[in-house]
Parts: sequence; C-alpha cells; structure tokens
Amino acid sequence: MPQVLIEDLNPKNLDKPFKERANIDELVDVTYEMAKKVLPFLASRKIPLTPDNYRIFYDYFLLLKPDLSKRVDELLGANCRFSPEVSEAIFREYYQKEESEAANLEKVSERITRASETLNANLGATLDNTSHFRKILADTVSQINLTKVDDSSLKNMVDNLLEETVTALTNQSDLASHLEKTRQLVASLTNELKDQARLANIDELTQLYNRRFFGNRLSHILLTGGRDQILSVLMFDIDRFKVINDTWGHNIGDKVLMLCARIIKRNAGENFMAVRYGGEEFLILCPGVDVKAALALAESVRSQIETTQVTIRGALIPVTLSGGVTQYKMGETQEDFISRADKALYQAKAGGRNQVREI
Ligand code: GH3
Ligand code: MG
Ligand code: MG
Repeated sequence: MPQVLIEDLNPKNLDKPFKERANIDELVDVTYEMAKKVLPFLASRKIPLTPDNYRIFYDYFLLLKPDLSKRVDELLGANCRFSPEVSEAIFREYYQKEESEAANLEKVSERITRASETLNANLGATLDNTSHFRKILADTVSQINLTKVDDSSLKNMVDNLLEETVTALTNQSDLASHLEKTRQLVASLTNELKDQARLANIDELTQLYNRRFFGNRLSHILLTGGRDQILSVLMFDIDRFKVINDTWGHNIGDKVLMLCARIIKRNAGENFMAVRYGGEEFLILCPGVDVKAALALAESVRSQIETTQVTIRGALIPVTLSGGVTQYKMGETQEDFISRADKALYQAKAGGRNQVREI
C-alpha cells in the first residue's frame, strides 16, 4: 500500500501543469537573429513590414510550421507581395486556431510579445527611415494599449518601454544602450505576463487548473469540436472533509487536498485535464472517452485514494472520495453536462460515499 507522510506535502513539490516556455534570454537572442534574417528578406521582396508579415516570416525562417512554410513558398513562387488581405488570411489559417486555444491572458501575452518583437526588430532596422518607423511604432503602441492590462506594475513597464523607445528615436547616438534597456523591459514584461497567465489559470494550493480555466476550455472544446463529440467528465468530492478539518486543523486539511490533487493529476496524465473545481471538489475532463471508460478511470482514482495510507504524527487518517461520471450528450449545454455529473456524484454520496456512479 502506498504510504504518504502528510507533513511532506508542499505545493512546490507538486508537478507543474504548465509546460515551461523557452528561457527568455534565448528567446531574445533568437528574436534578434531572426530579425536580421527576416527584415532584409522582406525589404528585398518589397513585402510590407507589418506585425502579421513579421510573425509569418519569422516562423518561416525558423521552420516552425512546415505547412505554413510550404504555403509561403508557393506564394513567394507566384511573386505574391503579402498584402494585408493575404497575410490576414494566412494568419487566420495558421495562427488563429492556436491562439483561441490559449486562455485569454495567454493571448494578451502573445500579442504583447508579438508587438514587442516587431518593435525590437524595427528599432534596429528602420531607423534610417524615421517616418516609416514612426508609423510602425504608433501601430505597435496601439496594439499594446489594446490589451488593456490593468495591473499597475504591468502598466508601468509598458510606459517605461514606450518612453525608452521614444528616447531612442530622438537620440540615435545612444541607440545601443537604449535598445538594450528596451530589450530588458520587453523580457521582464513577457515574464510578468506569463506569471499573470499562470496565476489566473492555476489553483495555487493544488497546482491544478482552476474552475475559470476549465470553463473556457470546455466552451472551446464544444465550440470547435462540435456538439456531437465523445467527451466525458469525472467529478469527485472528498468524503466528510469537514471532519478532517475539524479533527486535524485546516492546515492538514490543505495537505489532504494536495494529496488528492496529486493522485487525480497523475490519473489525468497528459491527455486529460485535471481541475480543482471548488473547495474539495475536483474534475477530470476526458475528450474522446465514453462513459464506460470514464467510470473505470473514476473507480481507479477512488480506489487509489482509499488504499493510500495517509498518516499524521503516526496516526492514520482515512481519506476517501465519491465520484460522479457522465458523458456529453449531443447538443446539450455545458451547464447541463456538468450538472448531470453533479447529480451522479450526489447519488454516490447518498449511496454511502467512497463509491462512483454514472448517469
Ligand atoms: P461530504 O461527504 O458530504 O462531501 O461532506 P464534507 O464534509 O466533505 O462536505 P461539506 O461541504 O460539508 O464540507 C466541505 C468542507 O471543505 C468545508 C470547507 O471548510 C472545507 N474546505 C473548502 N475549501 C478548503 C480549503 O481550501 N482548505 C481546507 N482545509 N478546507 C477547505
Ligand atoms: Mg463539496
Ligand atoms: Mg465533501
């Protein structure tokens, strides 16, 4: 039987659900190297330097998206000038789907990063053409403003960034050091946004996705995957959790939550999404899984938690949970789907707890 010493649990030791992005310094270096490739290329082909074109050719040279590169090659072969209409169509086809999959704040982060990349690249490359540059700067600034980030430290950073840029423009002899400062600001801005996105989507105690992120994700799946797909949800609620809190204190209660979250996360694996839905309620969202398989997974989670020996100061704390499972029905709303799982869970509680039910 697996044994867990409850005192050893700590949020810092839990698996992180977010895949870490590339190190920001590397990102800045790559950004710069790519600017040196992309900008002369665009100029030689007389392709307008817009944020969309910059992003498209950036990925084209980085060979990040084979389909995109193939399409761009065809267009270049046909002497295409990548007008705003063409670039927008490419952008819609190759980027928008990806972007709508990210959470809102992630999108903001992407946009600022994109705007900043363009800004950075243009600082180095178009200073000899000040009026053109001013226009690009104005566009970039309006993109940054559009994001309406209200956190005050972020706003300060954006302001600093813009101030640095304007100074760099008016005093070109100091360009190198201003450029460096600007790059540093872009780097911290990007990091800050990543932290914000993380805070907004992840529950701090358990490191699982939170209810808000789950809601967005489920809407997205239903919108993009259609309302006739196979999709199941598992809902869990710890049994008599109040007793654990009352007997051992809130602190130990928190650790029991972490333990359950860790087991649930492990069972969700890479393909399913584990969520802290409420105080001591959890969900696993399983795309492509029918109710039979979902019930088996729920039963396995229940049994793993029941058989984990949780000890505190030598005493054994019995920890169990109940589960409700249901499969998405064609055309129904998100609320109908989740409330059926809730009903199934209620039946498991009414049936004596430490069991799973399906509807
Ligand atoms: P049942 O088997 O019917 O689910 O009984 P229960 O005691 O688990 O259910 P109830 O809803 O009565 O109590 C849930 C408790 O969970 C009450 C609340 O104080 C506690 N709780 C909610 N969030 C947290 C948290 O983050 N940490 C701790 N330690 N307790 C929490
Ligand atoms: Mg509850
Ligand atoms: Mg409970």
